[in-house]
Formats: sequence, C-alpha cells, structure tokens
Amino acid sequence: MKLSSYVCGKWHEGAGQGVETFNAITGTTVCHVSSEGIDFAEVVRHGREAGGKALRAMTFHERALALKNMAKALMADKEKYYEISAQTGATRADGWVDIEGGLGTVFSYASLATRELPNDTVLVEGDTEVLSKQGSFLGRHILTSKPGVSVHINAFNFPIWGMLEKIAPSLIAGVPVIVKPATPSAYLSEAMVRDIVAGGYFPEGAIQIICGSVGDLLDHLGEQDVVTFTGSASTGRKLRTHPNIIANSIPFTMEADSLNAAILGKSVSEDDPEFDLFLKEVAKEMTIKAGQKCTAIRRVIAPRDKVSAVIEGLSARLDKIAMGDSAHEGVRMGALISRDQVRDVAEQVARLSQECEIVHGGSEDFDVVGADKHKGAFYPKTILYCDKPFEKTLVHEIEAFGPVTTVMPYDELDDAINIAKLGKGSLVASVYSYDAGEIKSLVTSVAAWHGRMLILNRDCAKESTGHGSPLMPLVHGGPGRAGGGEELGGLRAVKHYMQRTAIQGSPRALTAVTSEYHRGAVVESDGVHPFRKYFEDLIVGETLVTHRRTVSEADIVNFGCLSGDHFYAHFDEIAAKDSFFGKRVAHGYFVLSAAAGMFVDPAKGPVIANYGLESLRFIEPVGIGDTIQAKLTVKKKIKKAKRGDEKANGVVQWAIEVINQHDELVAVYDIMTLVERREDD
Ligand code: NDP
Repeated sequence: MKLSSYVCGKWHEGAGQGVETFNAITGTTVCHVSSEGIDFAEVVRHGREAGGKALRAMTFHERALALKNMAKALMADKEKYYEISAQTGATRADGWVDIEGGLGTVFSYASLATRELPNDTVLVEGDTEVLSKQGSFLGRHILTSKPGVSVHINAFNFPIWGMLEKIAPSLIAGVPVIVKPATPSAYLSEAMVRDIVAGGYFPEGAIQIICGSVGDLLDHLGEQDVVTFTGSASTGRKLRTHPNIIANSIPFTMEADSLNAAILGKSVSEDDPEFDLFLKEVAKEMTIKAGQKCTAIRRVIAPRDKVSAVIEGLSARLDKIAMGDSAHEGVRMGALISRDQVRDVAEQVARLSQECEIVHGGSEDFDVVGADKHKGAFYPKTILYCDKPFEKTLVHEIEAFGPVTTVMPYDELDDAINIAKLGKGSLVASVYSYDAGEIKSLVTSVAAWHGRMLILNRDCAKESTGHGSPLMPLVHGGPGRAGGGEELGGLRAVKHYMQRTAIQGSPRALTAVTSEYHRGAVVESDGVHPFRKYFEDLIVGETLVTHRRTVSEADIVNFGCLSGDHFYAHFDEIAAKDSFFGKRVAHGYFVLSAAAGMFVDPAKGPVIANYGLESLRFIEPVGIGDTIQAKLTVKKKIKKAKRGDEKANGVVQWAIEVINQHDELVAVYDIMTLVERREDD
C-alpha cells in the first residue's frame, strides 16, 4: 500500500517506491510513503488562498464549533485508530494518551475558545492604556489572524496527539494547517486526516497533510507563515537555520529531545510515600510508549544513601511489567517504532555505558510476550548508574529515546540542583518531597532550566496527572536543549498564530477597531432604557445616564446595619477624622448598590441575570451630603451559542461610571449580564 497526501483539494499518491514503514510488533510492511510529485508552492498557495480566506471569515466561536464537531465524530470512531495505533508498537494505554489525549486537547481548545474568546475575528488583549492627560489619546493591543499557513513537522512518537495539539490552536486562530507527520507512523495521522477531510468540518484548504518528504516547502514560506517542529535537536537546528526561515523571520517553534530529570528530596526516607511515588513515576515514564516520550525521565537524581534502594526498587517494578504484543493479556509495555530505532537506542546505550554502569537490562537477554523479539522492535528496560555525574558529560548529552534511564547520586541539595542544570534545558522535571523548604529550594533553583515542573507528594498523588503529561492549559516546551519553544498553555498557543499590534488613537477610533467601548468615546442614547432591549438591539457605546441621589447619614447607618459592616471610617466620627479620608464616608459597596438601584430597570425584560463584576476601582470617597450619579454604557457584546432548551442569549459587558457632584469619578467597573436574544441561531 502507498500512503497518500491530501494537498490542493485532492488525495495525491506520491511517485516512486517511497520509504517502507513496518509494523513495530511483527516487522511486516505496513505501507510505503512518498510525496514525490507534489507541487509544494501550490500547497502553500492553496492553504493561504482557499483555506485561509475561508477560515478568517469565520469567527472564533464558529471555528471552535467546527473543532468540537470534528472531535466528537473522531471520538466516536476511536476504536479504528486504536487498531492502527497498535501497529506502531503502542499498547492500549499508550494509544489512549495519543488518541484520546489528542482529542481531549481539541475539546479543551474548543471550549476555551467559546468561553474566553469573542464571537468575532479580532482579539482585543489587556487593558486600555491611557496615553494622555485628557484621555483623548489611548492605546490598546489587538491580535489578528496571520494570513499565512502553519506548517507542523511532527515526531513519530505521537502521530495523533502531536498533530492535534498543534492544529487545534492554529485553526482557532484562523490559520490553515499543513501537517507533516514523521514517516514511520504517518499512516496513523493520515487515517485521521482522511476522516477529518471526509467530515467537511472546515473549509477546503484549511487542513492539508504531506506524507513523506516536505521537499522545497520551506522555500515557499513567507513572513505571514509559521512553522512548528518536534523531533531531534539536529534536524530542528537544521530547519531553524533554513535561509528562508531566517530571511523572513518566520516564527519557528522547536521542541527537541530533552534530558528530563526526576529529583528525590534529601528529606525523603524509604518509608515515606514519596519514595514509592518516585519509583512508580520513573518506572511509568520508562515504559509508557516504551520510553519514546519527549517528557520521559532520562536522569534520576537521588541522595547517595538511597541510590541502592532506588535501583533495587525500580528494577523490581520494571520486572513486573511485561513487554510484547499488547493483544496478549498482561502486556503493559509495547515496542519501539522500528528496528532502526532499536539500533539507535542500543547505540546510545553503548555510548552511555562508556561512562556509566548498566545495572538493569541493556542486553539481549529479555522476554517478549506474544511476539518474535527478533522481528518486532523491542528493547529491554534499561537502568544505568553514573557514580560521578560532575565528572561525566555523555550522561548530560545523550538521549536514548527508549526505555532507558540513568540514576545519579547527590550529596547536598545544591548538588542535585547543579546536576539538573547540566541537562542544559529540559521540557519537565519532577520533585518528590514533602518538605516545604526543600521543595521551594529545588523548584526555584532549577525552574529557569525547565518549561514545566511537577511537585509530587502524598497530598496530590491521587489526582496528579504525572510527570509525563503536558496539559492544554499549561505551557509545554523548554529552554535551551529542549528547543526553546512553547506550545499549549491555553490561549498562548492560539496567539502564536496571530499578530499582536499596538493600536494608538482616540477613544472613538479604538471603539471602532475593537468593537469595544472606550471611555471618552461619543456615547449614544435613543431614550429607551437599555434593560428593555434584546441583545441584537443594543449598540456598543449606547449609554444610560441616571438620575442623581444625595447620600445621607441614614444611608450609611442603614447599609452598615444591613451588612454588619461597622468599620470605623463609616461609623466612628473621631477615628474617621484621623483617617485617610478625614471624615466619615459611605461604604464602597453601598455606592455599588446605590448605583445598581439607579441604573436597573426593574420590570421583567430581556436581561436574564447579572453574573459578575470586573475591574472595580473606588476612586474618590463619598461623604455624607455628596450627590452621586451613574452612567451605564454597553462596552462589549458576546453572542453565545444556544444550548439545549435555554433561551438564546448573549453576554453584555457594561462599563459603569459613578460620578459625584463635581463630575469626579467615584467608582468605575464593568458588570456582565446575560441578555436574551430576539433570534435563535
Ligand atoms: P527527526 O528529527 O529526524 O524527525 C522529526 C521530523 O522531522 C519528522 O517528521 C521528519 O520527517 C522531519 N524531518 C527530518 N528531516 C527533515 C528535513 N530535512 N526537512 C524537513 N523535515 C525533516 O527525528 P526522528 O523522528 O528520526 O527521531 C530521532 C530522534 O529524535 C529520536 O531518537 C529522539 O532522540 C528524538 N526525538 C525527540 C522527540 C521529542 O519530542 N523531544 C520526539 C521524537 C524524536 P521524516 O520522518 O519523514 O524523516
């Protein structure tokens, strides 16, 4: 079978024989992979012109809905992918991380975008910066979709997760994707893309896949395109320094191999739960995906007096994990991706053993359940021991991308810290300790060398997602050797595919660009109370100016008695005179309540509920005899997708200003209300 690429709106079978890929368990041929004959300039053009244009016409919410529908359909078909995944050597548990972990990430992105992004195509970021005394010159940041393509060059170890965690934020950002899976497991990525294309969730051109070499693709990229790469540091370096990438300052996110550490605290004794958690986590990271994980623990850093117990305990755990064909009962560890990879790992272990002692595995003498160990891509679970980590170098340089780890002793906590730093930048490190001082010292000392740190102890063990799991809301990536990139991290990843631009101008101009009211912009009113209007009828900038109210001592006393707040600044004439205010003042919360009393229209209407308040500032105190007045302005509208039987609605954010008799601002804040829509979707 020859694997095809989906480019320029059709499936393309590459010319020539292509590269042969093998079933990792049986060693038989799965398919041949070739991209020969593809016009890569045309692929980029098709992505930009067909996919990009159509994607950018959709709002963030529409893109999120498309992603959600896609993930739902793919999840319903998941068994098909598990079956294919088994050919890559993955067990069911490995497949779960890749397939359901990947689809889970897509669901999370779809829901994050619906919750936190506007139903719009422009993203407004951060607060308004007031750049002038009179407030007529303001600044704001906006993000717009790059009118280019994003190219994702992926590693072989997570053909689904690695693809989905990158395409989800790019598609939400409105940027079409070109996926290039690693050849040895490309058939799994291709199977899923086939279903994505057939499902028609996204406009044509939004998703393309190249199975095989990317040829001269990088030569055709321009300043609006983005590249992400996961794989070996050497390929990453080569691509990052591609002349066209440099000439056009094309953002290049790299996630390369890293020598992640697990550090056992000095305070931990062998009877502590943290000792067991440490062994369990290291064994897990060595055996999930047969150790072919960018986050796997390669360096085990333990106090010198615990090293024997660590090696013994770890060996005992590993001995209980059966390796082989996961179709056979009891098998918990699968194969490497290919026999080439077995040779590569064996070579790296041979290099490591020049300065370390192999204390477990590392030889031909191992058992495989339900498969021929000479045909499948099996490598034994291997522990090395490096007695003098400060005198050795290879152990801090070589990544054996398989079930291999090296134990290193330390004497003082500072030594553990310095050993961790010798990795020159990693994706993740984990710390096992129950001692708060030790935790703080370890984490703050090595955090700068890591993109993520897990602190595992008895308090969180039951619910912890573990050392090896990157999660959608948290950044994944690491400095230095790990590539210096950042992926995931919630909306950070979406913004990676958008251009941030600082916009400066008048409140009216900024209101026009952002569709958000900026204080000082011209306000409008048609005399109808805004609480009487449906979502569609409200206009950004529309304002209600209320009647006035003079605050009396009775107001303060009544509010104090109602709330139970008898703070001296409201109730003690003498103390209040000496206070910051110099007099008795009304409660800030009274001012808010009184403002609501002035701007609310009480009769039943389209406003469903008030569900929050943001950015509250009390600016001037309100004393007895002061007169206040409120201004309620439609600041922003977010149309919400209709859910089930609930009435179609949207979020209206209102800017509230409360002023006193001198026209001075007393309080400013935003409130959020749910407002009924006149029309269903
Ligand atoms: P590579 O760096 O060789 O490949 C990674 C991706 O880059 C693949 O999609 C590959 O495609 C592509 N690629 C390779 N050369 C080029 C090129 N000249 N132009 C464009 N794309 C290119 O990594 P491997 O998959 O071979 O793995 C090698 C080692 O990398 C592993 O043993 C391990 O040490 C490390 N690794 C680290 C990972 C991590 O997440 N940290 C993940 C995977 C590997 P193709 O497959 O078609 O060559």
